[in-house]
Amino acid sequence: MNELNLEALNTEYAAKSAEDAIRHAVEKIGISKITLASSLSIEDQVLTDMLLKIDFRARIFFIDTGRHFQKTYDLMDETMERYGFNYEIYAPSHEDLEAMVSRHGANLFYESPELRKKCCEVRKVKPLKRVLSTVGGWICGLRRDQSQTRQEINIFEWDSNHSIYKINPIAFWSEEQVWEYIRKYNVPYSSLYNNGFRSIGCQPCTRAVKPGEDVRSGRWWWESPGKKECGLHVSGHGDTNIIN
Ligand code: SF4
Repeated sequence: MNELNLEALNTEYAAKSAEDAIRHAVEKIGISKITLASSLSIEDQVLTDMLLKIDFRARIFFIDTGRHFQKTYDLMDETMERYGFNYEIYAPSHEDLEAMVSRHGANLFYESPELRKKCCEVRKVKPLKRVLSTVGGWICGLRRDQSQTRQEINIFEWDSNHSIYKINPIAFWSEEQVWEYIRKYNVPYSSLYNNGFRSIGCQPCTRAVKPGEDVRSGRWWWESPGKKECGLHVSGHGDTNIIN
């Protein structure tokens, strides 16, 4: 795999399209060594559409925490049917899950930030580590204006937590730009968005938000804003940022 000059790439691709950034990453890292993390959010659906149009062999993975909305599983079927591909599915270890739920109960995330993070670690972070150990780069749908924990992300980054490249092709997009793309290409999206949801994650930890509220305010709403990430996205500065 070629080494990427992140500073130069971020300067160059700030003026180019998201598709250009994806195309460059695929070319440099290799189609079998790069993967898209999808939670079936509108951002990930846009990237799925772009990536599969660039190369139909693209790898796209989904972490099945076991606690997703039924509508998310329905949208997975619809998306696979539409584009003719299969998600790579990663699930928590049954030993970890059995030990955690036996000790702390099925709703431990509401008990304390520590137990919420433990649940995210078992159901999301550990499966993520498994998939990322197989690639040299991952593509994510993070955007700067999603939350205060995502203000400094760039298009091309080094993910020191997993020792691979991380590409955020729509880092500078607004939510409205995402919707414009969805409408323009008739990309399938979750009907939860029609009911006030603006970020999709596990069902017990996601709720609709009111107009004007932060996009991520419907996630772990019982915790303070600075702590609202689940450990999937950790910045190069060592701050814990997450995946959906
Ligand atoms: S989002 Fe909630 S249910 Fe999902 S892994 Fe994290 S704490 Fe557990």
